[in-house]
Amino acid sequence: MYNITLIPGDGTGPEITEATKKVLEATGVSINWDIQEAGIDVYEKEGTPLPQRVIDSIKRNKVALKGPVTTPVGTGFRSVNVTLRQTLDLYCNLRPSRIFKGVRTRYENVDIVIVRENTEDLYAGIEFEKDSEGSKQLIELIKKLTGKTIRSDSGISIKPISVFGTERIVRFAFEYARKNKRRKVTAVHKANIMKYSDGLFLETARNVALNYPDIEFEDRIVDNMCMQLVQKPELYDVLVLPNLYGDIVSDLAAGLIGGLGIAPGANLGEEYAVFEPVHGSAPKYKGLNKVNPLAMILSGVMMLRHIGEISAAERLEKAISDVISEGKNVTYDLKPYPDDPTAVGTSQFADAIINSMK
Ligand code: NAD
Repeated sequence: MYNITLIPGDGTGPEITEATKKVLEATGVSINWDIQEAGIDVYEKEGTPLPQRVIDSIKRNKVALKGPVTTPVGTGFRSVNVTLRQTLDLYCNLRPSRIFKGVRTRYENVDIVIVRENTEDLYAGIEFEKDSEGSKQLIELIKKLTGKTIRSDSGISIKPISVFGTERIVRFAFEYARKNKRRKVTAVHKANIMKYSDGLFLETARNVALNYPDIEFEDRIVDNMCMQLVQKPELYDVLVLPNLYGDIVSDLAAGLIGGLGIAPGANLGEEYAVFEPVHGSAPKYKGLNKVNPLAMILSGVMMLRHIGEISAAERLEKAISDVISEGKNVTYDLKPYPDDPTAVGTSQFADAIINSMK
């Protein structure tokens, strides 16, 4: 029996969580779910979207499965997702993007693994609001230190990238490549412009790569990387990126493999692991039993592998592949047209996967 924290999240989170829970239970793996509510509704009730009890539960169980949580844009509370990653030092966001047989995409041969640094960069949460005392002082200090002028009506976000943070994420990428028999690691950056942050990332990545002569290493500037991925994704294997580029490029990669509905992810640290889909809470579909639960179910497959339930993971993956290939009992996003009347709902898709496992 495994004790696992389950965070349903908000928006469409609870629907896909329910679907995922029943599919994982149908594998026969015995899981005692420690259900912990978090997100926008909890904020209204408890005054914080991420109560301490959620963190304590993950610390106790070491493993969590999480639905998406809404983050207000521009104002309001800080992202629950970012806070969780920083608090638990989940320094790696692992996002595999590969095409499942039967999925409709413009591509044939995509099998990319994104290794995104999860704790630093512009997501560090060090920000200075326009007109605040902090931003005024910072603008003065920067003028004094660099001679450069920042407009007085600016808001400022700080981008820290460290040797420590970069070494461990690049090491993770190489170790992952080795363990999973991948051939190449590509470091992605904008070192030509941001010499002291991205430049340090690149220099550090090159140094780490020297310890892995068995795996090819190369680097790409992020804008070029985006174009290359759209044109010839088959050339790429494991990508390692600082936080912001990793976030953006993983949505791009999700687009290559058939959409956010099938893109899973894991947040990993030395001690804890939180599995969650790449997509957000898609609030406009809340309560409609419409969205695709696969991204979260596939995050569950990653979780099964993490806890050592390899054969259950393989059985479930095969059932998913079979249902997608048949193309009948799938949600709207996997049909040829989004308004296809034969599309099934979130829970029916999950039932089809369960039936296919029997
Ligand atoms: P989103 O990923 O929620 O949705 C974007 C679009 O992708 C949707 O409109 C829908 O067309 C499609 N989509 C997403 N999930 C799908 C699914 N399961 N099945 C089918 N189609 C799906 O992105 P958004 O609208 O930019 O963000 C909504 C909220 O989610 C925001 O508050 C954002 O901050 C938050 N968010 C949370 C997480 C997380 O919890 N880890 C990640 C990203 C965004």
